[in-house]
Amino acid sequence: MKQYQFWFVVGSQFLYGPEVLDTVAARAAEMAEKLSAVLPYPLVYKVTAKTNREIAQVCKEANYDDSCAGIITWCHTFSPSKMWINGLQDLQKPWCHFATQYNREIPNEEIDMDFMNLNQAAHGDREHGFIGARLRKPRKVIAGFWQDGEVQARIGRWMKAAVGAAVSKSMKVMRFGDNMREVAVTEGDKVEVQAKLGWQVNTWAVGDLVKVMNEVAEAEIDALMETYRESYDFATEDMETVRYQAREEIAMKKMLDAEGCLAFSNTFQDLWGMKQLPGLASQHLMAQGYGYGGEGDWKVSAMTAILKAMGEGGNGASAFMEDYTYHLVKGQEYSLGAHMLEVCPSVAADRPRIEVHPLGIGGREDPARLVFEGKEGDAIVVSLIDMGGRLRLICQDIHCVKPILPMPNLPVARVMWQAEPSLTTGVECWITAGGAHHTVLSYDVTAEQMKDWANMMDIEFVHITKDTTVESLEHDLFLSDLAWKLK
Ligand code: MN
Repeated sequence: MKQYQFWFVVGSQFLYGPEVLDTVAARAAEMAEKLSAVLPYPLVYKVTAKTNREIAQVCKEANYDDSCAGIITWCHTFSPSKMWINGLQDLQKPWCHFATQYNREIPNEEIDMDFMNLNQAAHGDREHGFIGARLRKPRKVIAGFWQDGEVQARIGRWMKAAVGAAVSKSMKVMRFGDNMREVAVTEGDKVEVQAKLGWQVNTWAVGDLVKVMNEVAEAEIDALMETYRESYDFATEDMETVRYQAREEIAMKKMLDAEGCLAFSNTFQDLWGMKQLPGLASQHLMAQGYGYGGEGDWKVSAMTAILKAMGEGGNGASAFMEDYTYHLVKGQEYSLGAHMLEVCPSVAADRPRIEVHPLGIGGREDPARLVFEGKEGDAIVVSLIDMGGRLRLICQDIHCVKPILPMPNLPVARVMWQAEPSLTTGVECWITAGGAHHTVLSYDVTAEQMKDWANMMDIEFVHITKDTTVESLEHDLFLSDLAWKLK
C-alpha cells in the first residue's frame, strides 16, 4: 500500500502582527505532530496562510503531490476568506474543515483582548465555512476539541475515505471476459466511471490467462500450497484440484501486477481453456487486498478493492458479497449471503476449510473453494449502480450474526445478517433504489465514510438506515433524481 499523508493548512492574516503569527505556526506544528501520533496517516503542517498567493500555492502543490491524499484546514485566528477563493477553486484533493480550538477551556483569569485575538477560531471558522458553502465545494466539516479521542477518530475515518478516493483515482480493473450475458445491473458506462471515479476498466482475453497459467512452474505452486496450508485447513484429499487453483491464482496475480491492476472480474460463461472456475484462487487474491466481482461485475470488483484500502489498519474485512436467499420466519428474519465460490476469507469467523465440490453451472471440473461462516458484527453493504447519466451508491446498515443454521450441505462460505430497518422494509428500500444483488459487505468501513467518499467523487449517495421508510426513500429519490439532472 502506498504511503499517504495529509496536509494541515492553518488560516490567518497579517493583522495581528508577527508574534501572534509565530504562536499560531508553533501551535499548528505541535497539533499536527500530536495528531499524527494517533491518526491512521501523518498530518503534515504546511503553512500558516496569510495571502491569496500562499493558499493558491499550497492547493496547487497538494494537487500535484501523489502522496498528499487531502488537506485539513483550520482557522486559529480570523482568515478573510476571499483570499481562499482561488486556491479552493483549483483544489482537486479531498478537503476537511476542522473547526477546533487550541485551548479546551476559556481561562477565567488570563482572558483579555490579546487572548481573544489569538484564539478566535469560533468566528474564523465561520468565515472559512461560508466560502466553502458559497463555492459549493465538497468538504467534510468536523467540529470538536482536537485532543478528544472521538474527534480524532472521526478525522481518522475521514482520512481513510480520502485514501479511498486516492485509490479510486488510480484504480485499474482487469476483466477476464465480458459480463454474464443479459445481466443489466453489472453493466455500466466505463467512460463515465473513469471520468467520475478514475477507474481504468479494460479486458484481457481468457486465452492469454491460460497461456500464463501453463507457464507457471511446479515450484511456484509448491510455495503457494505451503501458504494455503498456513492459512487454511485442508478438507480434501484432492491435491491436484487445489494445485490447479494455485496455478490460476499465480497466473492471475502475475497479470494483475504486471498491469498494476488492483481488481479483476471473470465469468463462468467464459472460461476458455480453464478446467476450473477460480474459487480458492479468487478468494486468496481477495484476502491479499485485490478486488473481485463475479459474472464480470467490474463495478463491485473495484468497490471491493477500494473498501479494502479504506479499511487498511482495521481488520481488513471487506468482501464481495451476494444476497442469495432469505429466512422469513417471524422474529428470525435474516438474509443469507454467499456466492458460487468467491467469498473473501477476511470475513471468516474461524479458520476456513479448503473443500472440493461439484459446481452446478459452468460445465467445468469440480473447483476447490474456501468454506467458512462469516463473523458477527455491525456492518454495511454497498452497491454502485449506473443510473444512466450518473452513478448512485447505495448503502445499507446491517448486523451480521453467527448463521442460525449449520447448513452442512451448503458447499460455500456464508454470511448471515439482519438488515435495517427490517428485512422486508430493507428489501423494499433496496429494490426501490435499484441496488444490485452483488454488494461489498464491510465490517470496517462505515456508512459515514461511504457518504464522505461519494461526496468526494461527486456521485449520488443513498443510505438505508434504521429510520428509513419506503415513503421517505421514494420522496428522497424523486428529489435526488431532479437535482442530479439539473447538476
Ligand atoms: Mn453473482
